[in-house]
Amino acid sequence: MTGPVVNFADEFRDPAHAKSELARIARLAAALGATRDKPVSIMEICGGHTHTIFRHGLDRLIDDGIEFVHGPGCPVCVLPQARIDECIEIANRPGVVLATFGDAVRVPGSNGSLLVAKANGADVRIVYSPLDALALARKMPEREVVFFALGFETTMPATALTLLQADREGIMNFSLFCNHITVPQPLRVLLEDPAMQIHGFVGPGHVSMVIGLEPYQFIAEQYKRPVVIAGFEPVDLLQSVAMVLTQLVEGRAAIENQYGRVVRAAGNPQALKAIETVFEPRASFEWRGLGEIEWSGMKIRPRYAAFDAEQKFGVGYGGTRAETAPELADCRCGEVVKGAMKPPDCPMFGTVCRPETPVGALMVSTEGSCAAYWQYAGRRVAEALA
Ligand code: SF4
Repeated sequence: MTGPVVNFADEFRDPAHAKSELARIARLAAALGATRDKPVSIMEICGGHTHTIFRHGLDRLIDDGIEFVHGPGCPVCVLPQARIDECIEIANRPGVVLATFGDAVRVPGSNGSLLVAKANGADVRIVYSPLDALALARKMPEREVVFFALGFETTMPATALTLLQADREGIMNFSLFCNHITVPQPLRVLLEDPAMQIHGFVGPGHVSMVIGLEPYQFIAEQYKRPVVIAGFEPVDLLQSVAMVLTQLVEGRAAIENQYGRVVRAAGNPQALKAIETVFEPRASFEWRGLGEIEWSGMKIRPRYAAFDAEQKFGVGYGGTRAETAPELADCRCGEVVKGAMKPPDCPMFGTVCRPETPVGALMVSTEGSCAAYWQYAGRRVAEALA
């Protein structure tokens, strides 16, 4: 092999580069008059970014005048208990094999999780992709295999392509319990909330890889807030924060793309076509902490109704809906999801609620902000609380 090997990971973790971005952030924050008491609030929408911030200690490195607000960008965390209950109801039906990702099995419903349902006899299996679930259906034609489909626009194309594959092969013992949700609509809800003081957004890299930049335009045009789509390495995050601050200093609000090595302005047309073929927006979908949000969830189009578990089993929006039980008295999941509260301010954080004994979804999911705090900042937070 000749010539240098380019290593993106090293380049985007380079300490010298990080230091120069930190200095730029400090200058911009000073220009905005930001202080610890009057910080600039930047929401990182995506749970993956929350993990980058804590894993690399960016919250401590960054200037005191910047406050990270954690957004609703973890699809497991924002599922309300009712959807978990409905999923368990399907899993308990005779002959059903419920296939799902590992994160989802531990999320508490109002009366236990899918893991508890499994311990009680339901056939719940962990898979790594929707295609794995389809393979189960192929292997067990006498069973009904239901895939618990969840995630933002990032994971929708894989689900859509799997359904199209099932349709092509005529695998009729396969269906989806569809919980796919979209990023832009909850942002509008947060921006409409007078209690939320968000000055700018670090936008989700993976979602934007699919949908491109246009769906965020309303944030700049109607709400005059900057959005910078960011990658997931520490220098990506620092650069993106600096880009948000630059817009604020210059009095601009635009959608900018720091993650140009992956995200195209128009997104991914093939992925968008697969989504459009299989799914259509639901009139309303319930979010944990945010309630019902119009046009924020996707459902399976009538052409593919035979693959819709809600219709097949008469459960959820396609049949009988479970009622969301009130959260436990001390649980603050809803407020943390909205960015209205930090995880350590929940009375359960680090006491009864830890990754090995999660009370709320935000401690279960690898993208949850409570899990991020605990995994990377747990000791320092516990010391501060002691
Ligand atoms: S500490 Fe547990 S109960 Fe409290 S907000 Fe986080 S996940 Fe929810």
